[in-house]
Amino acid sequence: MRAAIIDEPGKLRVGEAPDPTPGAADVVIKVGACGICGTDLHIADGEFPPAPFPLVPGHEFAGEVVEIGSDVRTGIAVGDRVAVDPSLFCGYCTPCRTGRGNLCANWGATGDTVNGAFAEYVAVPAVNAYRLPDSLSMGQGALVEPLSCAVHGLDVFGAQIGERILVVGAGTMGLLLTQLLAGSGARVSVVDRNAARLPLATTFGAEHVATSVAELDAAPFDASVDVTGAPKAIEDAFDALRRGGRLQIFGVAADTARISLSPFRIYNDEIRIVGSMAVLDSFEPALRLLESGRVSSEGLISHTLPLEEFPEAVGMVRAGTGVKIQIAP
Ligand SMILES: [Zn+2]
Ligand SMILES: [Zn+2]
Repeated sequence: MRAAIIDEPGKLRVGEAPDPTPGAADVVIKVGACGICGTDLHIADGEFPPAPFPLVPGHEFAGEVVEIGSDVRTGIAVGDRVAVDPSLFCGYCTPCRTGRGNLCANWGATGDTVNGAFAEYVAVPAVNAYRLPDSLSMGQGALVEPLSCAVHGLDVFGAQIGERILVVGAGTMGLLLTQLLAGSGARVSVVDRNAARLPLATTFGAEHVATSVAELDAAPFDASVDVTGAPKAIEDAFDALRRGGRLQIFGVAADTARISLSPFRIYNDEIRIVGSMAVLDSFEPALRLLESGRVSSEGLISHTLPLEEFPEAVGMVRAGTGVKIQIAP
């Protein structure tokens, strides 16, 4: 089959890879759509330590079931359209056994630690496949994973009615978080250096939008979420908090990145800082939100490119082109 392959950090190509064969509990999916995410860029740059090389990336995907392992008992059938939770939790470490599988000591994910869906076919555990309603396209199916990360972010972060919340970054994740926060009754302000992204943030419920925190007169905020992973943006998000505020670090930074925050302020103002890592029991809720229309995908999928153009598509993501760029193998 054809697949996008990262041979080593910085070396990316589209070439031939062996067809996946399903393990006893797996299904093989013919990929319909797979989104490119900031994490894929970190993997390509060697900044995401769990990723081995060579690797076929791709963890935001939907497709059609074409083969079923001998021991699959989920009632899934060949021909089913599914979205796939990429999470691979071991099930026996302490985090897994205390309800925090996303922090699994042996954490893995399809497309991050084993071959993923920037390919014609991918094998996944059958229990990770969720049937896609007829009303949702493959492209929308590939948005369930990023939305499920945003749902987990809210699970961790909480949002109170009427709170003033700053979202830094208006890419796909920032726009999904904006919808969830506004839908939860928070008053959302959104900042992105790329002004072209701001009208969508307004459409999705942001009250104030700007290209920098300094331009917003809504500060200080009760809470802020950084969706960029950029150290300067995280520091701005921290500085914009009121006393007693909280900061969520949602965006993926390079593993070597460092930030500079005032420990006195964290102490004296009782600032809480909390992370949010991937998906935890949030895939089904995300699927329901998209199916019901409570979260809109209108305008989010800006480009759909063929697999052979994967390197160009990655270049577009790096350049900040559009919103969500997907590959349709
Ligand atoms: Zn992702
Ligand atoms: Zn585990």
